[in-house]
Amino acid sequence: MAWRSSGTSNATLIENLWRNKLITQPLVKSAFLAVDRGHYAPSAPYDDSPQPIGHDATISAPHMHANAVETLLPFLLPKTSAGEKAEGVGDLVGEKGRPRRVLDIGSGSGYLTHVLAELVGENGVVVGLEHIPALKELGEKNMRKSKEGRHSLDTGRVRFRVGDGRKGWSEPKPTISQPGVGGPANGDAEGEVRKDEEGGWDAIHVGAAAVELHEELIRQLRSPGRMFIPVGDGGGWEQYIWTVDKDEKGEIRKERLYGVRYVPLTDAPK
Ligand code: SAH
Repeated sequence: MAWRSSGTSNATLIENLWRNKLITQPLVKSAFLAVDRGHYAPSAPYDDSPQPIGHDATISAPHMHANAVETLLPFLLPKTSAGEKAEGVGDLVGEKGRPRRVLDIGSGSGYLTHVLAELVGENGVVVGLEHIPALKELGEKNMRKSKEGRHSLDTGRVRFRVGDGRKGWSEPKPTISQPGVGGPANGDAEGEVRKDEEGGWDAIHVGAAAVELHEELIRQLRSPGRMFIPVGDGGGWEQYIWTVDKDEKGEIRKERLYGVRYVPLTDAPK
């Protein structure tokens, strides 16, 4: 499938993904059009293939990013009040409520983190988590190449953090009296925790192949919430995308989707 959607510019790449039905939702298309892959892939950015970004990591192929976003979409869009549906997504949008929180594990180039931020709206938060500090820096640096990217970082809507994605992530708790937007806040013990910083994730994207469906990641999903995760067989190259859904009652549903090849979710290099 890799060659089919390649383009000569960001716009033609996205148009080809759309024509080949790898992107089917208008809001997803707009989000991908808003982020120039040229800011994130050091070579052949408009090819529909993965590209090396250093440190044995790759920026995934555009069709994989497209499928990940399409799969997570109902858990990304800002919730609107009943009846006030976003165009083109029908019933996908939930009831009005707390802002979206999304975790992008193995953020690498930062490209998908940025696309996710385009979808969660002004009040949503996306955290890009990397275990290699240089790649955490790379994601941030790439995102600073655009005005919108700089805005998202400066307002704290997007944060890049260093940590082991197998353990998930909890943001340090900022408070109303000390919002600490965008940075690790020294939580004010007396202060009230800001509503939008309450724990858990509406959506978790994992960009590297795990050896198992890590329980801790499932625990950190909100009810409802969805995780998109490649899982390998613990050594071989056989990997599959899985989705894990947690419903309103906290019940878990796991589904194996299709075969893939991702770099492994591992210990950080020494
Ligand atoms: N979504 C990224 C994918 C990068 S490749 C992109 O498209 O640019 C996978 C990334 O997962 C690498 O950057 C790698 O450093 C990171 N990674 C691997 N194991 C990890 C772990 N245990 N915790 C956090 N990140 C990890």
